[in-house]
Amino acid sequence: MYEKFWLEAGDAAALIIPGSQAISYFSDVTNLCWFLEPELGGEIRRLHRLVGNAAADDGRHIVVGTGSSQLFQAALFALSTSPEITAVAAGRPIPVVSSVPYYSSYPAATDLLRSSLFRWEGDASSFEDSGGPYIEIVCSPSNPDGSVKAPALSSSHGKRIHDLAYYWPQYTAITTPADHDIMLFTVSKCTGHAGIRLGWALVKDENVAKRMVKYIEVSTIGVSKDSQLRAAKILKAVSSGYELEETAESYKLFHFGWKMMNDRWRRLREAATATGVFSLPVFQPEYCNFKNDSTSPSPAFAWLKCEGGIEDCESFLRENHKILTRSGKHFGAHMKFVRISMLDRDGTFNIFVERLMSIKL
Ligand code: PMP
Repeated sequence: MYEKFWLEAGDAAALIIPGSQAISYFSDVTNLCWFLEPELGGEIRRLHRLVGNAAADDGRHIVVGTGSSQLFQAALFALSTSPEITAVAAGRPIPVVSSVPYYSSYPAATDLLRSSLFRWEGDASSFEDSGGPYIEIVCSPSNPDGSVKAPALSSSHGKRIHDLAYYWPQYTAITTPADHDIMLFTVSKCTGHAGIRLGWALVKDENVAKRMVKYIEVSTIGVSKDSQLRAAKILKAVSSGYELEETAESYKLFHFGWKMMNDRWRRLREAATATGVFSLPVFQPEYCNFKNDSTSPSPAFAWLKCEGGIEDCESFLRENHKILTRSGKHFGAHMKFVRISMLDRDGTFNIFVERLMSIKL
C-alpha cells in the first residue's frame, strides 16, 4: 500500500552508501546501545515528538533490532534474566501470556528454542495469577483485531512488553504519548518498509536495556548499518514532509495512509454488509491529537467473522472463493474468525473486495 507514497516521494528517501562507509561493527561506543547509528536514534526521537505517540526522550534508551521481532526475543531474555524475577522464579520458566486474540508470532517466537527461561502459557485473561512472575505482552492496537488493548493482569511480580507496532495515526487515534517500561516499534508498519528489517525499542530501565543489547550482541553482533542508515533517511523524509510549506497530502505519510485505510475500510464494510455472510468489529471514533480531529480506527488487519453456520472461515474463503486469509485458530481464537491484511497493493485489494462481494450463501 505504501509503495504509491514512496514513488511520489522520489529522492527524498533515496540513499547512496559508498563502499568506504558503515564498515565497522561499532556505531557509537559511548552509547549504551553501541550499534545504534546516531542518525537513526535522532530521527526516531524526532518522529515520536512529531506524532506524539510515545515518550522517547528524558533518558529513555533506544535499542535497535533486526525488526521488532528480534527485539521481542531480546525483551523476553532481558526480563526473564532480571535479578528480581529470577529470585522468585525458583528455576522454573517464566510464563509468557497475551490476551486472546494475540499475534500468532508470540507463541511461535517464545517457544522456538524451548528455553528454560520462559514458556508460552497462552491467554492472559485465563492465566491463574498465583503471585509468581510472568510476562504479559500487550499489543495495542491489536494484531489481529485492531482493538485498543489494556493489560489483563496486574501483579507486582509481573512484567510487560508493549508492542506498539500499530500505534500510528494511519491506523488509530493518537490519544496520548505512550509511556510504558518497554515499547516496541517497527518501520514495517510505520512506513511500510518491512523488508529493511528494522525495529526499535524504547526502554526505561537501564539494566533491562543493557540485557536487550547483550542479546542482540550475542545473536547478531548488532544490526545492519545499511538498514539503519536507510531507515534514518526514510524517517527523516516522513518528518520533513510535515515541515514543508505545501499542504499537499502526497508529502504527508500519515495523512496519505489514513485516507487509504479509511477508504479501504469503507469498501470492506460495504462488501461485508452486502453479502450478509460476514461481520466485522465495530470501532468508536476518538479524538486524535496528531490530526486534531475525531477519527475512526482503520486497522492494518480486518478480523472477519463468518456467520450463517460456517465453522471454518479460512477454508470456506480459500476453497470456495480463492481468498487467502489466516485462521483465527493461530491467534488463540475460533475458526469462525479470519485475519485479512488491509495493506496489500490496490490491485490485490480491489480483487479481494470484488470476490468478497460476490459471496452468497
Ligand atoms: N508486532 C506485531 C504486532 C506485528 O504485527 C509485526 C509484523 N507483522 C511485528 C511485531 C514484527 O515486526 P517486524 O517486521 O519489525 O519484525
